[in-house]
Amino acid sequence: MCGFVGLIGSDSVAHGLVLGLQSIQHRGQDAAGAATFDGRRWHLTKDLGMVSSVLTADRISSMTGNVGIAHVRYPTAGTTSSQQDAQPFQTRHPGILLAHNGNLTNIPEIVADLRTQGCHVLSGCDAEPLLLVFAEELQSIRPAGHTGADVVKAVAAVYRRVRGAYSVVAVLEVDGEPTLVAFRDPHGIRPGCFGRRADGAWMVASESVALDVLDFEKEGDLPPGELMLFRANREPIRTLIAPKVPRPCVFERIYFARPDSRMEEGRVNRSRWRMGRTLGIEWTAKGFEADVIVAVPDTSRPAAMAMGEELGIPHREGFIKNRYSGRTFIMPDQASRKAALRLKLNPIREMFEGKRVLLVDDSIVRGTTMARIVEMLRGMNPIAVHVAIFSPPVRNPCFYGIDMPSQKELVAAEFSAEDVEVALAERIGADSLTFLSIAGLKSVMGEQICAACFDGDYAVPITEDERKFIRGERR
Ligand code: SF4
Repeated sequence: MCGFVGLIGSDSVAHGLVLGLQSIQHRGQDAAGAATFDGRRWHLTKDLGMVSSVLTADRISSMTGNVGIAHVRYPTAGTTSSQQDAQPFQTRHPGILLAHNGNLTNIPEIVADLRTQGCHVLSGCDAEPLLLVFAEELQSIRPAGHTGADVVKAVAAVYRRVRGAYSVVAVLEVDGEPTLVAFRDPHGIRPGCFGRRADGAWMVASESVALDVLDFEKEGDLPPGELMLFRANREPIRTLIAPKVPRPCVFERIYFARPDSRMEEGRVNRSRWRMGRTLGIEWTAKGFEADVIVAVPDTSRPAAMAMGEELGIPHREGFIKNRYSGRTFIMPDQASRKAALRLKLNPIREMFEGKRVLLVDDSIVRGTTMARIVEMLRGMNPIAVHVAIFSPPVRNPCFYGIDMPSQKELVAAEFSAEDVEVALAERIGADSLTFLSIAGLKSVMGEQICAACFDGDYAVPITEDERKFIRGERR
C-alpha cells in the first residue's frame, strides 16, 4: 500500500506536493519522497520516515519547478528499512521521474528480461523495474526528443510486459515540454484520480482528499488501461490503450482509504454505510438481539451507525482510541499484551456493563486483535458480546499491493464457509460472529470489483512461482 500525488501548474509545486502527500499519509508511513523538474534540472529527495520528517522546509526549499511528483511508501515488496527502496525513482537517459502504488506480479520475469539488455536494478522496490521497462521502451523508439505518440507506444509495451496492479505517475519531457504523465493498470486495481484547479493547474493522486486540500475539483478517476498527459492550462491528452473489465480493490473501500475520499462509486464513507446497512439486514435475519451497537474505531463507525439505524438499536461510542500510542512492540506476556491494547483502545465501562453488545469491525485477518478486544470487554461484565464484520471472511492473500499475511496466517482460511462463523466466534470468545456475505458485498459494490481476498477470483492470473516470489519478498 502506497500513495502518490502529482502536480503541474504555472507556479512552483514543491509545497503543494508536500501538503497533498500529508493528506494521504495513512497510505504509507515507512518512507516519503518528492521530485520536481524546473525545465533545466531535476530535483529529488527521499528518505525513510513520515512526510513531516523527510520533506522538511529545508529540504524542499531548493526544489524548484512547476511539475513534480511525491510518494509515501508502505512496502509490500522490497525491504522496510532501505532508503534505496523509497520512491520516486529516476532515470537520466531518458530523463524520467516515476512513482507508483501497487504490486507487480511478474517481477522475476521483468528483472531477468532487463538483465538480458544489460540493465540492472538497485533496489527491492518494484517501481524501479517498472520505470526501467518504460525507459527502455522509450529509448528503443528514439534516444531523445520523445513525442506523445512515442509515450503511447512505450506505455502500450509496459502493459504487455508488466503484470499486476499499478497506478503510475511520472514526469518527463514530451514534445519538448515538461509533462505530467499518469496511467493505471488495465483493470484499475489500485486507485487513482485527477482534478483541475481554477488557475489551470492539474493534479493526480491516489485519493481525492489530496485534491481537496489544494482546492482542486475532482474531474474523474484515472481510467483503467488509459494514458493521460497533463500540461497546465490545457485539456489532458487521453489515449485508451489496453482497457479490461474494471476491477478496483474493494478492500480500499472497506478499510484502507480515507472515508472522505471519493472513488469510482462515490464517497468511501457512503460505501461503508451501505455495507453496514446490508450487514444489518443479514444480522437481523439470524434472530440475534442487542441493546447497543459499538464500533471498533475508526474505520467501522459509518457501518456501525448504519446498522444501528437499520436495526433500531442505539449506536454509542464505546472506545476511546489513543492517537499517540504509535506502534506497539510485540509483548512478551499476556499482561503486557493486555496493557498495550488498553493503551490503544480504552473501553468505556458503562457502554458494556449489563448489556447485550453488538461490536462492529471492518475485517478479521489473523483474529488475534478481535480476540483480545472481546476478552477485554468480558471484564466489563456485558450480558453478551456479538461481533459483526462488514466484510466477508478474508481467506486469500493479496498479491496486488495490500499487505496481508500468508494464507496460513489468515484465521478464516482454517474453516469451511459453513463453519467459519460458529468456529471463529468460539476462537475469539464471542457469543456470535456474523460476516457480511459476498453476495451482500457485491449488492453494494457491484460485480466489477476485485474481491479476491474474499472469493479467490484474482483479476490478474498469478502463477505458483510468482506467488512464492511475492511471499518471499514480504518475509
Ligand atoms: S485481493 Fe483484496 S486487498 Fe488485494 S486488491 Fe483484491 S480486494 Fe484489494
